[in-house]
Amino acid sequence: MTTTHDTDVLVVGAGFAGITAARELRRQGHQVLVLEARDRIGGRTWTDTRFGRDLDMGGTWVHWVQPHVWAELTRYGLDVVASPPAIHGYWITGGQRRSGTAEDLLAVIDRGMTGSTARALEHFPLPYQPLRGGDRLTEIDDLTIRAKLEQLDLTPEEFDAAEGMWATNFNGPTEHGGYTQALRWVALTGGSWQLNFEACATYEIAGGTRRLAEAMAADSGAEIRTGARVASVHQDDTGATASLEDGSQLTAAAVVVTLPLNVLGSITFEPQLSPGKRRAAQRGQTSRGVKVWALLRGEHEPSWPPHPAPDRSPCARSNTSTTTRPSWSPSDRTTAHSTATTPPPSRTRCSGGCRTPKSSTSPATTGSPTTSPAKPGPCSAPANSPAPTPNCNAPKAACSSPVPTTPTAGQDSSTAPSKAACAPAAKSTSC
Ligand SMILES: Cc1cc2nc3c(=O)[nH]c(=O)nc-3n(C[C@H](O)[C@H](O)[C@H](O)COP(=O)(O)OP(=O)(O)OC[C@H]3O[C@@H](n4cnc5c(N)ncnc54)[C@H](O)[C@@H]3O)c2cc1C
Repeated sequence: MTTTHDTDVLVVGAGFAGITAARELRRQGHQVLVLEARDRIGGRTWTDTRFGRDLDMGGTWVHWVQPHVWAELTRYGLDVVASPPAIHGYWITGGQRRSGTAEDLLAVIDRGMTGSTARALEHFPLPYQPLRGGDRLTEIDDLTIRAKLEQLDLTPEEFDAAEGMWATNFNGPTEHGGYTQALRWVALTGGSWQLNFEACATYEIAGGTRRLAEAMAADSGAEIRTGARVASVHQDDTGATASLEDGSQLTAAAVVVTLPLNVLGSITFEPQLSPGKRRAAQRGQTSRGVKVWALLRGEHEPSWPPHPAPDRSPCARSNTSTTTRPSWSPSDRTTAHSTATTPPPSRTRCSGGCRTPKSSTSPATTGSPTTSPAKPGPCSAPANSPAPTPNCNAPKAACSSPVPTTPTAGQDSSTAPSKAACAPAAKSTSC
């Protein structure tokens, strides 16, 4: 039966998965139409202009232990910039705030992290094929990361610190974080939680993540229609039909849906998705985070260069205690940053004039302006910004800048950027 379709393949979603699918399909000679609900591509990555500079509102850090991502950077000749190192660490245990060097904090975390991830490679010998672990996974599948930590012989302080770390990684309460997922993340970095840590917070794409999204989209040659929210997908022997929220319909021989788990349930499928997929979409992901950028008045010790400088990388030295906390978590691959329930320190990062709220449980490390690669003053750009722009009048304007708080298409609440927060002016010096 010959059917005339609007295009060969419809791709739903113009995040990295959708853009990649579109490019690969185009390379195979198919005509592709990408339908994206938002008014932009990039999905959970979004380099936007805030506080007078480009900021990544979502996914940010990349590492060569993400081989697919790294291959794309190589393909499009994109460079990375290192984020500044962490110097100070803060953590809370027994209701008391503790502080020390980043090394002190990481030493407190280490036993819990090492103990909870010790069997990562055993269960996930090939982490890109997670089910290869077979029956072994069934044995531990109902274990949460909290339950795993409770099995370890940790001091209360070690428990609190490691739990905070995992709450950060999961962007949610540790009693909701799956032990198997934790193991898989760490297996993806060779079984080393320190390398995992480093991967999550060391290198950013020069010019922001949009550079990569735009390069891939342009390379694909696919038509990308923004503002096109798909409400339902119908598939039969003749092909697929996507119905948009505005009532229009598009047909294709096939449709590729690249929506995250937490919004997959927002589309009606006919025939229905498999029971397993429906269950997973219904349960959703643990993560409940949002990413917050804050611009503060006055002089503040920068509390958010979160990661080791490249030459201080724990993975480049035998002393692993110099690692710092990650600023995104692997769970962000499907959800967002900090948590509402157990908020880790916000991902706010700025070389000067910014600070992060402290979590009740999560560890945080802070950096020192004296060791940051760039030393902009308060209200200046993040150290990796090409040209720090002192903007001492910015806080007020920046705080009222319209950062969406309501989830938009493709965002569960966990992926909605939260409203930028400004701290009350401290002693105003430079600004
Ligand atoms: C705050 C945050 C920080 C992160 N930090 C990092 C990091 O530092 N490093 C890293 O590697 N990863 C990070 N991640 C994860 C990374 O951003 C994601 O893994 C990646 O962007 C997911 O891409 P995707 O294409 O699978 O999904 P998405 O980017 O979510 O793309 C799905 C697309 O579908 C669209 N959509 C949704 N519903 C519809 C509909 N009905 N019709 C049409 N379109 C629809 C959405 O608008 C979206 O554009 C972070 C994520 C977040 C949220």
